[in-house]
Amino acid sequence: MLKIKINSKLILKLTALFAVICLALCSCSININVNGSDSESKTTVSEIGTLSVHYLDVGQGDSIFIELPNQKCMLIDAGENMYGKSITEYINNLGYTNIDYLVATHPHADHIGSMAYVVKHNNIGEIYMPKVTTTTKTYENLLTAIADKGLKVKSAKAGMNIIDDNDFSINILAPVTIDEDNLNNCSIILKITYKNDSFLFLGDAEKKELETVTADMSAEVLKVGHHGSRTSTTKALLEKVNPKYAVISLGKDNSYGHPHKSTLKLLDEFGVETYRTDENGTVVISTEGSGVTIKTGQTSMKRDE
Ligand SMILES: [Zn+2]
Repeated sequence: MLKIKINSKLILKLTALFAVICLALCSCSININVNGSDSESKTTVSEIGTLSVHYLDVGQGDSIFIELPNQKCMLIDAGENMYGKSITEYINNLGYTNIDYLVATHPHADHIGSMAYVVKHNNIGEIYMPKVTTTTKTYENLLTAIADKGLKVKSAKAGMNIIDDNDFSINILAPVTIDEDNLNNCSIILKITYKNDSFLFLGDAEKKELETVTADMSAEVLKVGHHGSRTSTTKALLEKVNPKYAVISLGKDNSYGHPHKSTLKLLDEFGVETYRTDENGTVVISTEGSGVTIKTGQTSMKRDE
């Protein structure tokens, strides 16, 4: 008969070894790499103190994932309806399982197309939408997904602050009024300020809505309105924002002729360093509050099968 001697010292040693292995595994899981087309690029869960804005390449549409410096996160828009899985995977790969703030700038399909999927497949905190309705199936699906999870929508309007700390704020600058005839002009305009740097997100706001904004729109980085359409980018706007960098979110060879030549010309005249998701893929702009770093060629969103 086989006898096993139980040695108490050996058990102690094995327990210690097990604990060390567990600790090592835990610390490894915090550093998750995102495989981009640039194999040198590695992205990890945002360190405390870093703000990282990921302008996701979702073809002709908008989707922007933001790692906030307080380790929470925000998703502004979710592209057309075939990117839900890819957006969710991208967020999960960065180490996030909750979306603390979900923003639907306005209810057009190129902004909310995949949002029902995102709501169904992620833990969602606060949801912000403009107080306007439409009758599309895409919009109805989103409202159903939100209701099914027992979540509530906050109506976004100018003057609301999502976060308002000394060094770090997320402010809603628009809509000031609702334009029932043009959903673009109901877009949520949002500004994130972190120490000396700020980012402005215009959704698809056109000239008419942009002229209603009374809050300070100045920002280091501008997400160009309406995919680079001439209806959004004007001389008056660029004078108000005075950006150093701009990102245009759009698809290759889109049928709208975006970006319009006049938009590119204006950005050039104002000396703005401009990036485009159709040419640069997903663009990630990070800051610790004093100067940004920019990475291009990051993972583009794949169409769901
Ligand atoms: Zn759009």
